[in-house]
Amino acid sequence: MQRIKTIAQLRDLLRPQRERQLGLVPTMGSLHEGHLSLIRQAAAECEQVVVSVFVNPLQFGPDEDLDRYPRNLERDCQLAEEAGADLVFAPGVEEMYPGEGKTTVRVAGLTDRLCGASRPGHFDGVATVVSKLFHIVEPDRAYFGQKDAQQAAVIQQMVRDLNLPVQIITCPTVREENGLALSSRNVYLTPEEKRQATTLYQTLREATREREAGRLCQAEEAVQFIRERLEQTAGLSIDYVEVLSYPGLEPLERLDDSPSIAAVAVYLGSTRLIDNVIWPKRREEDVPHPDEIQNPPSYRN
Ligand code: AMP
Repeated sequence: MQRIKTIAQLRDLLRPQRERQLGLVPTMGSLHEGHLSLIRQAAAECEQVVVSVFVNPLQFGPDEDLDRYPRNLERDCQLAEEAGADLVFAPGVEEMYPGEGKTTVRVAGLTDRLCGASRPGHFDGVATVVSKLFHIVEPDRAYFGQKDAQQAAVIQQMVRDLNLPVQIITCPTVREENGLALSSRNVYLTPEEKRQATTLYQTLREATREREAGRLCQAEEAVQFIRERLEQTAGLSIDYVEVLSYPGLEPLERLDDSPSIAAVAVYLGSTRLIDNVIWPKRREEDVPHPDEIQNPPSYRN
């Protein structure tokens, strides 16, 4: 008989490492280059890659776009395969939620702020479906986008709190040439709104430059700087602008070398868009910083 005191030891003993690493990329489909960059990274690091495509009703509020959310499974399967996926898991709602579920996974604190404040219950839906997917697929690694930085932080916290045996990998935000972060919801934008939407990243970049030049030293100053510029864009209404610690999402006063996030959410017409940058920028020897990745194919090469 053996006596074991650590979780890592217990796991090594009972559940030896799989020979073939299994990667999971959870998505809601309508795949674009952002999703495909996650799949490519998973394919580069894992022997087997599962992409889930599921528009999760639990994470949509009653007045949100669940019914009109873009869906195209045929195209998704083709793109996922080209990017290196071995399997697409596309369950129906009945398959994921048969009968009335009575269990919700809720990550406290982190989910009260930013998008959690504007979309009550959203992150409970995300944490619940992602933990279900982790149990169903049992991946060694799961890939998420920095574009949804709060989501990545929430999942990371859930994995830590519940000792889920999966490594969370966060991948850089993929953008159009003009800086607009790719999103399935960009299809809702008119050409004019699409042009206005570029202000988001341009403003975050400007704030980054100011911060690097030592001109934004307080979180509140940075918030004001971003807010003032966004307010000048016609047709754009601000949901939130916040500068918080990252990944803890705690309020900050002084901006120093510890990581922080400048996060924005705006409405253009009825479409809600989010974007963020992580500060401070990378040192030269670090991996490419999320915000500097603009050209997905060349990034992978
Ligand atoms: P979604 O289908 O919107 O739920 O997104 C599925 C995954 O793709 C999430 O982990 C997102 O953060 C990620 N993702 C969405 N857009 C981008 C993007 N532009 N760049 C990188 N990852 C993204």
